[in-house]
Amino acid sequence: MTEHARARLVLGNWKMHGNLAENAGLLDALRSAAGSAAASYCQIGVCVPFPYLAQAAAALQGSSVSWGAQDVSAHDKGAYTGEVSATMLKDFSCRWALAGHSERRAYHGESDQVVADKARAALQAGLTPVVCVGETLDEREAGQTLAVIRRQLAPVLALGVDAVARMVLAYEPVWAIGTGRSASPEQAQEVHGAIRAELAALGAAQVQVLYGGSVKAANAASLFAMPDIDGALVGGAALVADEFLRIAAV
Ligand code: PEP
Repeated sequence: MTEHARARLVLGNWKMHGNLAENAGLLDALRSAAGSAAASYCQIGVCVPFPYLAQAAAALQGSSVSWGAQDVSAHDKGAYTGEVSATMLKDFSCRWALAGHSERRAYHGESDQVVADKARAALQAGLTPVVCVGETLDEREAGQTLAVIRRQLAPVLALGVDAVARMVLAYEPVWAIGTGRSASPEQAQEVHGAIRAELAALGAAQVQVLYGGSVKAANAASLFAMPDIDGALVGGAALVADEFLRIAAV
């Protein structure tokens, strides 16, 4: 266990996976493990598909495992068919709302400004937005990684220190998500260090910055040993209780 100034946080992103029966087993396993020493050192949460928020709330209520959604509308209410507002998520006692996951940016055209608007809407309802940023492989190979991250962060940081201090950020290189090819600890730390510098310049250096992209129990320790990596946003490995809990127990 490495000494960190900030608490460790491991969040699962189930993406569009699961069903009532499978979820029940996974949620039960997380709930049962929640009282262990590892779980008390590391905060654990799961971001589930919208239809399963009620199931997650019922299964995890009273445990130390928190839950949330994978997206949130930038709007409070109105004629936005198919969207889910932050106040609706609050009705299900969500703690987290992902904003700007690369799959939302790529498949749903979410701009950097829309992502910031979603983060602001989440904060207004009392949720913690988990704002995701990350470069594509082409951008990395063109030497643009840090410029892309700064561009994605700019409208988020423009929300001001009081807002940013209540967020979580996640660095998720697009080329590492779901590919089995994690960033090396050094590659991740370089970006996390740059993000930390931006946060520090704003006066929000204590914000947790997670790494995401093919995190597994086998590579979590070396990533978590980096000074500016405060935990992980976990996709595929979050669907297997034992693997997810082993990441949280590092
Ligand atoms: C994710 O979906 O945010 C993610 C990091 O996925 P995976 O862990 O499967 O790469």
